[in-house]
Amino acid sequence: MFKRFFLSGFDDATYFERQKIGYLFYIILSALSFVIFIFFGQLYFVDGLIYLLADSLAISGMLASLVFFKLKKIEISGHVMVCSILAMILLEGVVRDFYFTDPAIRYRLYITMVSCLGAYFLVVSFFREKKFLYYYGAAFEVMLFIHALIIAHQLKGVDGMALMVWQHFVTVSAGMMIIAAITTWLLSYMEALFQQNQEYAARFRLQNEELEKMVQQRTHALRTSNQHLSEFAYIVSHDLKEPLRTISGFVTLINREMDNNDVDAEALEEYITYVKKGTRQMEHLINDILAYSKLNVIEQKLEEVDMHVVITEVKSTLAKAIYESDAQVYTSGSMGVVGEKQLLVQLFQNLVSNAIKYRHHGRMPQITIGCAHQDGMVRYFVKDNGIGIPDKHFDTVFKAFKRLHSKINYDGTGVGLAICKKIVDIHGGEIWVESEEGEGSIFWFTLPVAQQELPAMEPVVHAA
Ligand code: ADP
Repeated sequence: MFKRFFLSGFDDATYFERQKIGYLFYIILSALSFVIFIFFGQLYFVDGLIYLLADSLAISGMLASLVFFKLKKIEISGHVMVCSILAMILLEGVVRDFYFTDPAIRYRLYITMVSCLGAYFLVVSFFREKKFLYYYGAAFEVMLFIHALIIAHQLKGVDGMALMVWQHFVTVSAGMMIIAAITTWLLSYMEALFQQNQEYAARFRLQNEELEKMVQQRTHALRTSNQHLSEFAYIVSHDLKEPLRTISGFVTLINREMDNNDVDAEALEEYITYVKKGTRQMEHLINDILAYSKLNVIEQKLEEVDMHVVITEVKSTLAKAIYESDAQVYTSGSMGVVGEKQLLVQLFQNLVSNAIKYRHHGRMPQITIGCAHQDGMVRYFVKDNGIGIPDKHFDTVFKAFKRLHSKINYDGTGVGLAICKKIVDIHGGEIWVESEEGEGSIFWFTLPVAQQELPAMEPVVHAA
């Protein structure tokens, strides 16, 4: 109950603070019992009024200090406590002895000295700021000195007493300073030790948290990669089965035809064409799967890449397709990026070849490559005036083996855009598509910008 009342709200108190709290309560309790003892004793004296005033001041000071302490205003609590003790000593010791003289006066200085010492301990324990230590220390010393002065004056007649008062004053003052110096040093040493410990603990905690986060991230990445792998294996087997079925079906037909006495050479040739087509399809698929999986294992070395070179290389590789489709390829500018050159060539090549492949047969294909700055990245685009993509497929087209058109109309494996996405991911960018069915599409992607200003490419048109 006692513990709950006094220590509630300090659950988060540090080790050092908790020590301080214990120290403080010890002082409060001893000071209170001391004050109460004097309070009842005083009523018998003529000068009891001053005692009464002094003790009431001290008690209310203690209570106010306790309230501030509970409010966690430790420094204010300290000021209130020390000032109320100062006021009590001033009234009880100095003022009272100035007006009243009685035989017990020779013991007064001892009480003042003890109070000053106790209060000084309080100062030392309360304030981290050294300036309060000096201010209050000086206040206690001055008070002690004035009191000694008064008592020495009053005991002038009594032989040897005045000298004794001064001897006591010097001893207590010096003792107070030595104690204060030692305690201050001890406290700051303890605090430094404690702070160091706390720093170590905080660093250790941080490291632990980082490690834990890393482990969680890795586990998550592993889990996702496992899931992708099983999905990938399922789709690969499914897509490979299709050309295999075609091949085995036509091989059976060829066999049957060969068993006939009357071999139909034309039919045989047609079957063989289908078998060839099936094997070509399998070859494409295997090549694409290999290209896609390679992106997972090869460690990429990212460096500054001149995109002018990349785009020129893509255009020359696709020159035949551009020529045959009568396409016009515009480049409205280029900006250097940080990346892996060969991967960037592959990225642009897939997008431009798609723009040619999915062209609108009613108009001349026009393809534009361009770029602009976007939040510290470069945003490139490849725009075409082809058949377009319905909005519901804007996301699915980037998934491996997802195709919107049948193989009869458009040859392909459905891996091209998945490769593009993986390449952009490796570069820490994003890729997305905007399109209108029948009007054309625009593929956007961001790449990290090169620090060094690489030569910008002049707008050029690469026409058939
Ligand atoms: P592939 O071309 O081998 O089928 P991709 O991954 O390159 O595979 O493309 C996935 C699908 O997205 C394609 O099947 C096609 O339907 C659609 N697509 C890709 N690029 C374009 C484009 N420029 N215009 C219209 N549709 C496109």
